[in-house]
Amino acid sequence: MITVKRADKYGFCSGVRIADIKVRRFATDGGSGAILGQVVHNERVVAEMEEMGMRTVEAITDVTEPAIVFSAHGVPESFHREAHILGLEVLDTTCTFVYDIHRESQAALREGCHLVFVGEAKHREVIGYTHDLNPECYDVISSLKEARAIDWSEYPAIRIFYQTTLNAEHYEDTVRVIESANPNTSRADTICYATKENQDAARALAGEPNIDIILVIGGAKSANTHHLWEITSKIKTSYLIQGPEAIQPEWLSDVRCVGLTAGASTPDSLVDEVEAFVKAFEE
Ligand code: SF4
Repeated sequence: MITVKRADKYGFCSGVRIADIKVRRFATDGGSGAILGQVVHNERVVAEMEEMGMRTVEAITDVTEPAIVFSAHGVPESFHREAHILGLEVLDTTCTFVYDIHRESQAALREGCHLVFVGEAKHREVIGYTHDLNPECYDVISSLKEARAIDWSEYPAIRIFYQTTLNAEHYEDTVRVIESANPNTSRADTICYATKENQDAARALAGEPNIDIILVIGGAKSANTHHLWEITSKIKTSYLIQGPEAIQPEWLSDVRCVGLTAGASTPDSLVDEVEAFVKAFEE
């Protein structure tokens, strides 16, 4: 039988766990609402929410229910105003760490800093920070090339924020380009500890000599799950899967021990299912 070893830390972070609980409680108490984007970047959880009557919508104007849910990723302040104008009740599940960045970036703006968000411009968390800003006040960068293309010396001061779920080490060279071009640059410590803990544990798991392959479980659209896979695949053969049905039998051929980790939006029940599948596998 194949043995399974889980990473010391994996799966739901505190922000997503709280968001998940809030939405389920709202639905159980008879609330009727639509979720803007996915409350959790996981297809299984989205389907479960829909079964509870909490469908996912892509725009505030698509909401026909009395309430709208803002996910843990947060939204721009203008979305709250728009919901209010439309008479919608708001169930706000924005993570406290995301709100910290909203507050800190606004404070940095007031201090006259140019804002740099290291992350993906189209990620909902980053849209939350930038949507309402004057485009001249900020840049979103995700590569060394983008950092080198901008003249950072023209700004009196620069404050750098990371999208919470990033692997900061990956962007060290990119951030150094800005710092060396403008000495009045500072970094906000905005990498979420939950992400880092999952990443550190995944790295340690992949480094264990008795583990043959790593399965990284998470949603296809989950950025942090993809980052976990990037980390483990540099050390050991790794596969990113959404659930047990995605496991190819040949992956488990001649394998004695499988390492498991999961993205911050992966429910524990899915990790249990993958573990059971691997343990029951017979060639
Ligand atoms: S990963 Fe961190 S910042 Fe993002 S929702 Fe979870 S706890 Fe909050």
